[in-house]
Amino acid sequence: MSFSLHGIPVSSGVAIGYAHLLSHTSLEVVHYVLPRPLVAEEVARFDAALLATRNEFISLRSNRPQYAAAEFDAFLELHQMILDDPLLSAAPRDMIESEHCNAEWALKTQTEKLVAQFDEFEDAYLRERQTDVTQVAERLLKQLLGQPGHQPAPTRHDVEMILVAHDLSPADLIQFRPQQYAAFITDVGGATSHTAIVARSLNTPCMVGMHHARELIREDDLLILDGEQGVLIVNPDKAVLAEYKLRQSAWELDRKKLKRLRGARANTLDGTVIELYANIEKPEDLVEVKENGATGIGLFRSEFLFLNRDVLPDEEEQFLAYKAVAAGMEGQPVTIRTFDLGADKQLKGAERVASNPALGLRAIRLCLAEPQLFRTQLRALLRATHYGNVKILVPMLSGAAEINQTLQFIATTKQSLDDEGIPYDREVKIGGMIEIPAAALALNVFAKRLDFLSIGTNDLIQYTLAIDRTDEEVAHLYDPLHPAVLHLLSHVISTANKLGVPISVCGEMAGELAYTRLFLGLGLRQFSMSSAQVPGIKQRVLTTSLPEIAALTQRILRADDPLKIRELLEKLNSQ
Ligand code: PEP
Ligand code: MG
Repeated sequence: MSFSLHGIPVSSGVAIGYAHLLSHTSLEVVHYVLPRPLVAEEVARFDAALLATRNEFISLRSNRPQYAAAEFDAFLELHQMILDDPLLSAAPRDMIESEHCNAEWALKTQTEKLVAQFDEFEDAYLRERQTDVTQVAERLLKQLLGQPGHQPAPTRHDVEMILVAHDLSPADLIQFRPQQYAAFITDVGGATSHTAIVARSLNTPCMVGMHHARELIREDDLLILDGEQGVLIVNPDKAVLAEYKLRQSAWELDRKKLKRLRGARANTLDGTVIELYANIEKPEDLVEVKENGATGIGLFRSEFLFLNRDVLPDEEEQFLAYKAVAAGMEGQPVTIRTFDLGADKQLKGAERVASNPALGLRAIRLCLAEPQLFRTQLRALLRATHYGNVKILVPMLSGAAEINQTLQFIATTKQSLDDEGIPYDREVKIGGMIEIPAAALALNVFAKRLDFLSIGTNDLIQYTLAIDRTDEEVAHLYDPLHPAVLHLLSHVISTANKLGVPISVCGEMAGELAYTRLFLGLGLRQFSMSSAQVPGIKQRVLTTSLPEIAALTQRILRADDPLKIRELLEKLNSQ
């Protein structure tokens, strides 16, 4: 029977292959009571499984394949820490001893208890970590059941396989090399889950949040995953299959062709120069930046240097990371954002969980509240300006007082470097992110005080529409084409252009093909996106004529009916 399912596409592309179902181990656990003399043996069996799982992690970390992004290591470290937490490593042992139950049952019961506690957290980031706990427990359970790791797909060289799982951890994805599977599908997870981030960095089609896919799909069902539309077609008929085979070859051909654009300048048909920059999280990401031909770094999310660690990076460690990127880009612009911690990116051990973290002590607010932390970063950043074309970008600014205070911090930090005779770029440009509606509406305040601006559409949309960007439940309301969002974008871009202040967009919208022409029509000339998106966006720029899209862009801005806006946008994109 043919049917289709919808999910959240987190990594684009078309994949066609036969389903390989991954067993959901916890569903297979049975409960039994052990005679007293066998309890010690059961505890030893649990300890042995724990040790074997720990060794699995150690071996995964030391054999990290080249194709795996550096952030895998952080994920594996986090999973290793969860495994070693007494709540997972000691509590089941106590339960075996006190209740004489089998180890699998003790582990399953304790995991369910922990997951229920995570449900209570108000903080979305912490709530999402329950997935990590479940993934680690699943891995341990597999050891207990004598199925370590995951069973590889039966080798069938003639056909492609698609892995269908209730859930997959980042560690699983490393093992399931992209060569072995054409795509990944999971029942759970949102666009911001670790699994989604990893799949995207592996460049493998993936869909999450499929709800009951694992139950509805049978082993060897033929599947088509359409990562553009977020649709999974199960057992398609011949005509649909033929159509998708064509689409798939066209898509693959496009990707190959796109790679050839690496060295080309991103000029529009009428000769306007467009800059396509990359967003990065770590210095290691420079490899991808170069491979995809980005001409600079538009956003270095420096807070990733601070996550998942007990001791924060000191000035020297930060300096070396910023310097590596500055020097590595060989004179091309490198925009480093001061750390945007808080909300869904909390420091480890940060005790105080705000009642509404996205509106709380986040980003620049946290920096100004923690002067020592901020000064250390500013010293490292300023020192790095000596080694390349570095600019400093400040997130979440909301008004004049914050900007003035930030500039004052930078001025005193410069003074301290001067006193010590440490070199830095005296003309370093300081920019602000426009990601709060107040900043967009009062743009003059920003343009007057700062050297450049960058629109963070992810947050600008979140705050304009009052939609928590990490909450799956309201994801359908997160609408980049809402007239309010379009008006803010248009106002910010045109005002900045009029005032002669450089403006870019570094939120996810900048890397989405659907919006490239719209942004160009609004007057945007600088885009920053994840490296893999650069070639596709470049191709769209190369086939766009600014005079030809001007009128239609204005019609989109004047429209207020969501359907009309979409219809006009389609027309714009098919010109
Ligand atoms: C944004 O908000 O659009 C942005 C680029 O910053 P982040 O996604 O890191 O909040
Ligand atoms: Mg932001």
